[in-house]
Amino acid sequence: MYFDTHCHLNFKNFDRKLDEVINRSRENGVNKIVIPGTDVPTSNKAVAIADKYKGVYAAVGIHPHHVFELFKARERNFFAPAGIQSDLIQIESFLKHPKVVAVGEVGIDRHIYQKTKYPDYKIEEEFVKLQKIVLIEQIKLAHKYKKALIFHNREAKKDFLDILTTHYALLSMYSSVFHCCEPDLELLQFAKNHKMFIGVDGDIVYYKKKQEFIKTVPLEMLVLETDSPFLNPEPQKSKENGMKNEPKNIPFIAKFIAKLIDCSIDKLSKQTTENARTLFNV
Ligand SMILES: [Zn+2]
Ligand SMILES: [Zn+2]
Repeated sequence: MYFDTHCHLNFKNFDRKLDEVINRSRENGVNKIVIPGTDVPTSNKAVAIADKYKGVYAAVGIHPHHVFELFKARERNFFAPAGIQSDLIQIESFLKHPKVVAVGEVGIDRHIYQKTKYPDYKIEEEFVKLQKIVLIEQIKLAHKYKKALIFHNREAKKDFLDILTTHYALLSMYSSVFHCCEPDLELLQFAKNHKMFIGVDGDIVYYKKKQEFIKTVPLEMLVLETDSPFLNPEPQKSKENGMKNEPKNIPFIAKFIAKLIDCSIDKLSKQTTENARTLFNV
């Protein structure tokens, strides 16, 4: 049995394909899936999908990249009632649903995206400041509702670890994961010290630095994820036939890692699934 701990079945790519995608993942032994939200509409959709399918769970939250929308709204009208507050109230309401297992994905992101729906996207310090405020509020929500946390950090290690350090009291009681963890020994050490999990994706197949990194991560800390529809483990193949990533690819990723760290596929699938169940308490 496999567990895809991070898969965006709530994104447009999967509209009208959910039955077949979930069937294919079950046929490949991936019986548990967590769908993280990235803003209010996708969190809402994650909850609706989780509600419908057995073994599928939701996480709800505002992704740092999409904090940009709130940042722009605030810039347009500083005195308007904060959209942040109303978004957080919505996220909080989703947390009452029994199939919501985590707050996520939330974090800090300093990457300049080439493909983004925001034409004027740039990283200003005021924007990062707002990302931090939204992250802290969501850490508080996870604490209040006793949920796990799915952390997204991209090129923002210092800001990210500063916040986790200063708010550690709030997240110490529940599990959390560095989803799609950057290959960085400081992040790993932090995760070790604070009993956090490390999420690994299909890019391990071609990302050499990540391969070296994963060899240093104890198996007890590892969880598998696809981040579908992104990070197809076979990008060449996906380019040729237009196939995007989907949760059925977890065993492919698992086999690659098992070989890489010289561990039996049985042991790897068992341990990573157990880790994921501990992480999300399911
Ligand atoms: Zn992410
Ligand atoms: Zn994601």
